[in-house]
Amino acid sequence: MGKLIIFSAPSGSGKSTIINYLLTQELNLAFSISATSRPPRGTERHGAEYFFLSPDEFRDCIARGEFLEYEEVYPDRFYGTLKEPVESQLKSGKNVIFDVDVVGGIRIKRYYGDRALSVFIQPPSVEELRKRLTERGTDAPEIIESRMAKAGFELNHADRFDVVIVNDDLEKAKAEALQRVKEFLAK
Ligand code: ADP
Ligand code: 5GP
Repeated sequence: MGKLIIFSAPSGSGKSTIINYLLTQELNLAFSISATSRPPRGTERHGAEYFFLSPDEFRDCIARGEFLEYEEVYPDRFYGTLKEPVESQLKSGKNVIFDVDVVGGIRIKRYYGDRALSVFIQPPSVEELRKRLTERGTDAPEIIESRMAKAGFELNHADRFDVVIVNDDLEKAKAEALQRVKEFLAK
């Protein structure tokens, strides 16, 4: 049976960058593909980064009880983790790695307890977060503002996580994440 590694942080903190690095390491990891009703951006494909659903398809999955956790971040913009793919990856012996927001991360940790390591990626400052989101160039200004509005709340919940890693120097943050995940998987 595999274990669970949860990465949460305000959007723009560097979670995806660090997770993509960990996925290249020999850790027997599988990425948990979430479902979302937001449109794909850039090179994103259905079944790779996300399962892209319409708001109504998303609501149907909620009604059937298929989510481990989900959130409607603002009207018709849903994100959620489907139970079935996670359970089948764990059963096949894979360790499952999650990129979810702070509320989702806390819920998944509560559900799986000691089988899960929850990691909070902290940006050096709120100004730096805005700079990274702007420079990433993937979001319209109003989406950046909604992500920034959520960030204040999320930064106040770092203490609910097993591990906090400050992502200032990316190489250091990657090394620390690798070290912590290795220790957890060896337990
Ligand atoms: P998240 O998945 O948390 O939304 P990303 O991994 O997409 O964040 O990172 C947001 C942006 O910041 C990306 O353009 C990424 O290249 C950049 N970035 C990540 N870590 C650092 C860092 N330590 N210093 C500067 N830029 C960074
Ligand atoms: P993005 O739109 O940048 O891909 O993701 C926006 C936010 O949604 C990120 O903070 C990401 O971690 C979060 N997210 C992605 N998938 C899930 C999920 O399944 N559940 C929850 N609660 N949040 C998610």
